[in-house]
Amino acid sequence: MSDTYNKCSYPSDLKITDIRFANIDGAPKHCILLKIMTNQGIVGFGEVRDASSMTYAAMLKSRLIGENPCSVEKLFRRIKQFGGHSRQGGGVSGIEIALWDLAGKAYGVPLYQMLGGKFRNQIRMYCDTDVDGKHTGRDMGNALKVRMDKGFTFLKMDLGIELLLQEEGMLNAPLGALEEIKKYSSKAIEHQKGSIDFDLMKGKNYEIFTVAHPFTGIHITERGLDYLENYVKEVRDVIGYEVPLAIDHLGHIGTNDVINLARRLEKYNIAWLEDVAPWHYTEHYVKIANATTIPLCTGEDIYLNENFIPLMERGGVSIVHPDILTCGGALELKKIGELCQDYGVALAVHMAESPVACMAALHCAAAVPDILAVEYHSSDVAWWEDIAVGLDKPIIRNGFAAVLDKPGIGIEELNDEVIAEHIHKKYNGLWKSTDEWNEEWSNDRTWS
Ligand SMILES: [Mg+2]
Repeated sequence: MSDTYNKCSYPSDLKITDIRFANIDGAPKHCILLKIMTNQGIVGFGEVRDASSMTYAAMLKSRLIGENPCSVEKLFRRIKQFGGHSRQGGGVSGIEIALWDLAGKAYGVPLYQMLGGKFRNQIRMYCDTDVDGKHTGRDMGNALKVRMDKGFTFLKMDLGIELLLQEEGMLNAPLGALEEIKKYSSKAIEHQKGSIDFDLMKGKNYEIFTVAHPFTGIHITERGLDYLENYVKEVRDVIGYEVPLAIDHLGHIGTNDVINLARRLEKYNIAWLEDVAPWHYTEHYVKIANATTIPLCTGEDIYLNENFIPLMERGGVSIVHPDILTCGGALELKKIGELCQDYGVALAVHMAESPVACMAALHCAAAVPDILAVEYHSSDVAWWEDIAVGLDKPIIRNGFAAVLDKPGIGIEELNDEVIAEHIHKKYNGLWKSTDEWNEEWSNDRTWS
């Protein structure tokens, strides 16, 4: 046992003394690990959302130093105004997890128990699956079949307009626009396979990458629809029709084109279509949902449980897919699970980060009444689980992950050797001083 476990804690006297970070890369994404240190030697582990910035958490340090980490909700209410949607929620959410981890270690209780206890011991995991470069539906089917052979019982793949970019006559757009996308944005479009390179996201790249679905003017031609339909048919020919297959990253196309494509794909029993529009366009979801029998899913970029309500209330989604490092952390995820019960919407959990986020997500997935599956993005990263010490490895066996009966999120220590081997080239050094954030201050009151 390392000293991150407390053997003689006085939880009432526990105080936060420091917050430190380590940036790793290739996990497969840029992951920002964080530690909250205390006056009693116990350390809480958290993580800022993938592909973002430790600043989102570091700026909260001065609001937390000297406070008792066991007062999780009190501290969450203090810092939640500094979170936002997508990556902006990463700091508040990552800190919240580390506070639970500390509270769990101080009292000797697992996170799932502090959330009300568990409904299950094993969590179904699903794997996102990529095939590099130009390929066919049969190639994708074969890649998915490898996942099934490893025991995975729920699958997801990308099916996007980038498959059509190199083909003739499959996309229709203002003339020249597709050429610009190919020239400036092809690598950025493929970012889902790994870290986003900051240098690829400047200037024109940034402009192209940040045009949302309704504004691109891109349409899929009949030939393009034939191509995508045939791709999915080829996938199903390989994997069969019994296993759930979700689809992500359609590309930024408008609602009418999503409907055209969805109708073509209905016969292939798609588990869900993900992020078919920016999540905040509630009525776009309602329109698509009313036009197809394929379930719609969104949520990885939504901060705070109440922001899931409009989509649920209007029937825009059949599944929500929060990320614990964006939604506000463990208690918000638990509350989203409650909303799912109220509105009859299924819950899956988005997770593309390190074992820290994974463990926290598993505790929450154990503590909600119903869960479809938790995402696992690192099937091809051999060292991924070596980041954490004290877990029962392999973390994922036969497509399921166990929820451990250990205090907090269940991680005893982070492995500095592994972290040092995979440190992000733009953020050298691990657990360096963050004293520059000790005096950060503004008048935090949001009313006068
Ligand atoms: Mg997604």
